[in-house]
Amino acid sequence: MGSIAENLAAVKKRLEAAAHRVGREPEDVRLVAVSKSVPVELLKEAVAAGQRIFGENYLQEARPKIAALGAGLSWHFVGHLQTKKAKAVVELFDLIHSVDRLKLAQALEQAAAALNKVQDILLQVNLAGEETKSGASPGEVAGLLEEISKLQHLRVLGLMTMPPWFPDPEQVRPYFRALRELRDRLQDLRLVDNPLSELSMGMSHDFETAVEEGATLVRVGTAIFGKRGS
Ligand SMILES: *Cc1c(COP(=O)(O)O)cnc(C)c1O
Repeated sequence: MGSIAENLAAVKKRLEAAAHRVGREPEDVRLVAVSKSVPVELLKEAVAAGQRIFGENYLQEARPKIAALGAGLSWHFVGHLQTKKAKAVVELFDLIHSVDRLKLAQALEQAAAALNKVQDILLQVNLAGEETKSGASPGEVAGLLEEISKLQHLRVLGLMTMPPWFPDPEQVRPYFRALRELRDRLQDLRLVDNPLSELSMGMSHDFETAVEEGATLVRVGTAIFGKRGS
């Protein structure tokens, strides 16, 4: 691994190449630097290299980082979210990628209303029905979206998924495609006023495939910061 700046440049170059392969504009894909378990010093290096969007999984860990790095950055919550943490997460994060149940949405709605904020969210979908992963099942998503569309302080911008892991990113492609197709079907239902424009999919191992399949947000940790815990 090189420096953070070198890693970021390499990831961006691969992202651009993937976008161009399918005739997309690289600017239409935002890079979320997933910084769970990464010390704040390394986040500062990423900021110095121009990175502005960071993804965190744990509230306790994110809080001091957000305080230390200050304004001008965008924080995305990408981890499993407990209802009791809704208030703090709404205070700190611009986009929550991991809304997967109505109870959680209602808690976020209440927190956002109290802050007079409209909270942007994504609905997390568990495409393969994996027991170990969060996410609504594909069949549940339309109903969930319909219920959430009644909540005044939440705005659903699209979908997020964490597909099963395969050694070959080509094997993940059908899941990325399935998320895009699910988004297209939901879009046709016109349950919300705004377009469901965001698809959060792809990590270090497979973000290029995700970009080829329409990702607008890729969540990349290891390829930027190195292996966690080493
Ligand atoms: C850790 C994590 C990532 C980043 O994974 P890498 O393989 O390190 O790129 C992306 N999304 C979520 C939800 C994560 O928890």
